[in-house]
Amino acid sequence: MNTLDITNFSLPQLTELLVSLGLPKYRAIQIFAWLYRPHISSFSQMTDLPKELRNTLADEIVFEWPQIAAVERSKDGTAKYGFKLKDDRFIEAVLIPEETRSTLCVSSQVGCAMGCEFCLTGSLGFKRNLTPGEIVGQVVKVRDWILDMDESIPGLNNLVFMGMGEPLANFDNLLVALDILTEQRGLDFSERRITVSTCGLVHKIIELGEKTKVNLAVSLHSVNDAVRSQLMPINRTYPVAKLLEACRKFPMPKRKRIMFEYVLIKDINDSVADAEMLAEKLKGIPCKINLLPFNESKEVVFRKPSDEQIELFQKTLWNAGYTVLVRSSRGADISAACGQLAGKKSL
Ligand code: SAH
Ligand code: SF4
Repeated sequence: MNTLDITNFSLPQLTELLVSLGLPKYRAIQIFAWLYRPHISSFSQMTDLPKELRNTLADEIVFEWPQIAAVERSKDGTAKYGFKLKDDRFIEAVLIPEETRSTLCVSSQVGCAMGCEFCLTGSLGFKRNLTPGEIVGQVVKVRDWILDMDESIPGLNNLVFMGMGEPLANFDNLLVALDILTEQRGLDFSERRITVSTCGLVHKIIELGEKTKVNLAVSLHSVNDAVRSQLMPINRTYPVAKLLEACRKFPMPKRKRIMFEYVLIKDINDSVADAEMLAEKLKGIPCKINLLPFNESKEVVFRKPSDEQIELFQKTLWNAGYTVLVRSSRGADISAACGQLAGKKSL
């Protein structure tokens, strides 16, 4: 039976597999490179492989990407893709086109086990981890979709793991996916253009830094343990001090910075005193801060602060010398903004 899906294999893993099937190494490189060319869906398209070999491969292995089941376009150009997985579950990815580049926000799990109070994905609970092929497949399929569009949308060159799920809770599959994404004969992304966001799985943060050179984003949202534990249950296991200690130890070349994400929620974490405490606690960590005004939804009781309050919060951090951006959330009209991904069947 064809069960081995080679979309889950890094180049070294595919080489090992094909050598075990009696093929020379160079065939693995050739086949791997084919997999990541645009619009490849069958071995018969791999025209420089002998026909007999193509048939043999088709008998032994498969490659199947998740399928785009629905696309929704926002007024601001953002596009949200609903992917149908082999087991009929759904995940979402969001394309954010800018003038000269596009960013894709990808999912790493179906649902999420972390249960953050303010997040719709969290309210779904955890269904399962995505395989490496399901992670990479979001990129492959959206790249092909962009190529098919008549209008000119800049090609993908930024990836952020900020969709559904907690990437560091799916660590092994994340590493294989990153390997494929950054492999020159694969999708050839620069590690500098990939950001992995975590709610603070401290035991995996340093390992990520040791094993890859991707950028780290940390969803902080408060430096007060009582508040953060209320918002994010993970804080009861890894409190703020432990999290910031891991950030201080995160191996980083000069000029690279950790991105701290901070969802601003009215009357919960948005006071000037909160901003001052944040500035104090982050001292000495090379970082930039992204403020995300809370995206409201009818399912969650929290509210977004006023524009004045957001500005005041930002100014306080500025005055303390931080690089701080208010990230206007795009795609809110199609529920594609941060924290709104819920993998609904009918998009
Ligand atoms: N699980 C990882 C990756 C998901 S990133 C993480 O939590 O970091 C999704 C980002 O959107 C996180 O920073 C999350 O805190 C934020 N977010 C979740 N719900 C939100 C909401 N309603 N409004 C704004 N941001 C939200
Ligand atoms: Fe999971 Fe991140 Fe949402 Fe928390 S914010 S529930 S970690 S996806």
